[in-house]
Amino acid sequence: MKRRQFLKNAGLGIAAGAVAAPAAAQSPLQIKWRMASSFPKSLDTLFGSAEQIASRVSKMTDGKFEIRIFAAGEIVPSLQVLDAVQNGTVECGQTASYYYVGKNPALAFDTALPFGMNCRQQNAWMYYGGGMGLMRELFKQYNIVNFPCGNTGTQMAGWYRREIKSVADLKGLKMRIAGLAGQILSRLGVVPQQIGGADIYPALEKGTIDAAEWVGPYDDEKLGFQKVAKYYYYPGWWEGSAQLSIYVNMKQWQSLPRSYQEALETACAEANIHMVARYDAMNTEALRRLVAGGAQLRAFPRPVMEACYKVANELYAELAAKSPEFKKIYTAWSRFREDQYLWFRVAENTFDNFVYSVKRSPAPARKN
Ligand code: CA
Repeated sequence: MKRRQFLKNAGLGIAAGAVAAPAAAQSPLQIKWRMASSFPKSLDTLFGSAEQIASRVSKMTDGKFEIRIFAAGEIVPSLQVLDAVQNGTVECGQTASYYYVGKNPALAFDTALPFGMNCRQQNAWMYYGGGMGLMRELFKQYNIVNFPCGNTGTQMAGWYRREIKSVADLKGLKMRIAGLAGQILSRLGVVPQQIGGADIYPALEKGTIDAAEWVGPYDDEKLGFQKVAKYYYYPGWWEGSAQLSIYVNMKQWQSLPRSYQEALETACAEANIHMVARYDAMNTEALRRLVAGGAQLRAFPRPVMEACYKVANELYAELAAKSPEFKKIYTAWSRFREDQYLWFRVAENTFDNFVYSVKRSPAPARKN
């Protein structure tokens, strides 16, 4: 049948046919994936962000690409999401790369290195500073394609049963802290423990640990740490920001239709903006409530920060000497960070320092 005759028989004009014919020729592809998250459902910023991604992907594909999210422990434990994606137990996962520095310390660059970049700088590195290319190359070894999908912003340093007034006070401190930060603190006498989010509170309550860090006021309040340790320290120098990522199994990614790939990538980029916006909006009220409830805010003394900074740089030099992979990414990353400091300390830092310290006229009274 001639094309023109076919269109006529189908009751379609030429213009409509040009659009309708290719669509009719394709069969709509229904795809169902499972995503394992490292986080419990109670953390609505982290776990909720995975749900947001699934919802957006579904809407962008008219419900054809469905991703079901599973909380930590439902399919795999919190700290085994990378493995589950790598070996195809699930098609994708939501997690933080620094949980896996035992496999390869270079993985840390995808989430955070102690004294690393803030959220803005991390995004600049990933999207426009060569970071994405370097991380994709690394994740390829694990059959994974990675997508930044959120950031916590600068974190708090966590909850302590006793005050940290000097470097000596770190000695013997049993603390829940993950990854390279744990290694740094262990050189200053801390006994680090890696514990998934849901299991921290019982450990702190029982006194199995003396201190625990998680994220910041909004999440920490939900996990209840303020009930069992009253000193709330800042800043979490090990997480000037912490980027979360969606890991997709390479084979599964390659089998996705192009438009579904675009939908997933777009939803992750959107979630990356929303997570930090949500934390910034929610942390204020949570911090107010925590302080009203008795939390004692403390800044780490500068000598403690400086001692940690020194050890961090020693550790990076050692890791770079041992691992060509770490060295390659660290060299590029630290050059980029140095350039970012150059720029940020001109306008951003001057502006921030002024507005946070100037005597301001009071804001309108709060209604509640
Ligand atoms: Ca943390």
